[in-house]
Amino acid sequence: MISDRAARCQVRARPAAARSAGPADGLDYPGPVPTILGHAVVAVCAGRALPPLDPMPRRFWVAVAALAMLPDLDVIAFELGVPYGAPWGHRGASHSLAAAVVVGLLAALALRRALPLPWPLAWACLSAAMASHGALDALTDGGSGVAFLFPFDDGRYVAPWRPLRVSPIGRHFFGPWGLATLASEARWLGIPAGILLAVGVIRRGARTRADARRAIR
Ligand SMILES: [Zn+2]
Repeated sequence: MISDRAARCQVRARPAAARSAGPADGLDYPGPVPTILGHAVVAVCAGRALPPLDPMPRRFWVAVAALAMLPDLDVIAFELGVPYGAPWGHRGASHSLAAAVVVGLLAALALRRALPLPWPLAWACLSAAMASHGALDALTDGGSGVAFLFPFDDGRYVAPWRPLRVSPIGRHFFGPWGLATLASEARWLGIPAGILLAVGVIRRGARTRADARRAIR
């Protein structure tokens, strides 16, 4: 990861490719990136490929999807006038590993009676789902870095390789910038997520057939 301290001063940084996407009307800052559903899809597909998480009740997968999207609630900070690069700004505290650990623990404790696995394992999985959000954001080509180490370090970090297009907020999402973002996500997130999903389906199918053979004997 690369420290992105300069980005802490950027209030409305935009990727160079997007600067002609629309007028500077206050709606075209980099938004939840990748698109909010991209975070949920990747986390759920990755979880479905893990043997310890099979089978799990639907409420677990709902929690995984919700936690993977949760950090981007911090876009409220824009409306409250909190600077983008501030610790409590977008991609700040809510995107940190500490927040993932704490919120994952609370979710695991809340669901502990409903899940067929030890709550510490559920804690690890739910925290990983939320932490995956910041990891994907760090792979985007615009906006500020991610405050992974908050509250110990306010630095913003990005990955050395950033193939994902940054996603716009507001009406520009439905223009060329939004379409380019979706195309980027389809390639860099959709294909790996599809492979993970297929692995889970194949594995569950093999297990079902093995169980059926054992039942016949
Ligand atoms: Zn985010």
